Amino acid sequence: MKSKEDCPLCQALINESNKFLYEDDEIVILQTKTMKGHHKRVMLVSKGHSRFMFDENWYVHKFFRAWCQVYFDEEPTFVICESAFSTVKNHWHVIACDWYGTEKEIEQLHYTPHTTYETNIEWSPK
Ligand SMILES: [Zn+2]
Repeated sequence: MKSKEDCPLCQALINESNKFLYEDDEIVILQTKTMKGHHKRVMLVSKGHSRFMFDENWYVHKFFRAWCQVYFDEEPTFVICESAFSTVKNHWHVIACDWYGTEKEIEQLHYTPHTTYETNIEWSPK
């Protein structure tokens, strides 16, 4: 496990607070460092330097999905990618993006476990 000093996500939480789009006690949603051709590409990341219990935290998933349905509302659909295949293993984090993106990025998206969501569905926390 990398130390906090070497951790790109810990560093992003310290240095990129100007890119925060949402923040609470446990999570932050921020614009990703690299956009890879997307118009919108965001990451939800746990504040703590550990995977904690977020893997099974359905509530965070639901929250992120609902948040994205508003954030991506000018697009018909958006994508949420699983973090299991990411290079950063220390934090629980997921990435969401639109369907723009470079040719290489879109190809890569298809190989990454992901779910496509529609934005025009009313969501309620029931
Ligand atoms: Zn970290």
